[in-house]
Amino acid sequence: MKITEVSAVVCNARMRNWIFVKVVTDQPGLIGWGEATLEWHTNGVVGAIKDLSELLVGEDPRRIEHLWQMMYRQHFWHGNGVVRSTAISGIDIALWDIAGKIHGVPCHQLWGGRVRDYVKMYCHLGGGSMEKFYQTPVSDYRAFAELASAAVADGFTAMKSMAVPATMPVEGLSAVRHAEGCVAAMREAVGPDVDLMVDCHARPSPAMGLRFAKALDDYGLLFLEEPCWPEAVEGLARINAATTTPIATGERVIGLQQFRALFEAGAMDVCQLDITHAGGLTEARKIAAMADSYRIALAPHNPQGPVSTAASLEFGFSQPGYIICESVHSDVPWRADIVQESHPIDPVGRLARPHDRPGLGIELNEAEIAKHPYQPEVLQRVFYPDGAVGDW
Ligand SMILES: [Mg+2]
Repeated sequence: MKITEVSAVVCNARMRNWIFVKVVTDQPGLIGWGEATLEWHTNGVVGAIKDLSELLVGEDPRRIEHLWQMMYRQHFWHGNGVVRSTAISGIDIALWDIAGKIHGVPCHQLWGGRVRDYVKMYCHLGGGSMEKFYQTPVSDYRAFAELASAAVADGFTAMKSMAVPATMPVEGLSAVRHAEGCVAAMREAVGPDVDLMVDCHARPSPAMGLRFAKALDDYGLLFLEEPCWPEAVEGLARINAATTTPIATGERVIGLQQFRALFEAGAMDVCQLDITHAGGLTEARKIAAMADSYRIALAPHNPQGPVSTAASLEFGFSQPGYIICESVHSDVPWRADIVQESHPIDPVGRLARPHDRPGLGIELNEAEIAKHPYQPEVLQRVFYPDGAVGDW
């Protein structure tokens, strides 16, 4: 059995170009789908997939670990930069899809079988609307409350918001008060039994992140995400130690060594590895094993396209430490035209159920995808009031 072709299939979904990876074999009808979406780096990732295809064509697709090692090590530069790592991830996911199809079982059966009956999904406020999630002003507490109520009406019992605005490395109390106002309004709107999460997008410095974390600590967040840069390992550890709210990070972390450093420092209680960036399902399983040794929960980052979601859910059905799946369900109105999703989802409670189709269980419609060709992603940039550059 041989790989005959590895290619990228780009689908513009407005905020992101979904980069699907197609691995074709010499067995009739046996192909695998992966995803390597990396916003604002689309051309780089597509080029990296082309570079990697030179290593893979002619190889046996069943030797996934061996091929992963080739991709990571055999072009001299290790594959731990985000562009190369994302390309490796997309290919690796497609290889696992092929493995499931060869054996006629869902991917989670390849990893020891199902450890749970369902995976709970959470949404972004606005369900995938870029404007509602990223541009609702934090001074508009009522808008946050209404969006949270709308998510509950949509069947979700867990949701994430961007209630922490961009701040300079040190600021006064205004931004912190607004963040608290938004979270208080959401909690008031949805009650104590709905899970709320706040994503800081690594905008704050460790000092400001600590202030936000302290101010929000009494609202019972499921987790507080990226309260400072992931590179600020000691800062994250300081915030995590100072609050009862579990601190989450990891969506921009690549490689076992970086995850180990964060785990050892006590920098997180929730690991948000991104399966499409951190090295695919092969590396995700290793990161998860390491997280298990610290009893750190898994909540993989997943605002991308439908193949990423299918991979995250298959991973979740196999991982005891997996607590919840991020989802974006209404980013583009034609999502259902391009993909036949794999996992049935209960409309009330938004619980994903296992499927019994082989591999990831997903089917993509390439003719429909071709209707949405590459376009540059809509820019999202942050400048502080004085004109200096901030983090989005
Ligand atoms: Mg995030």
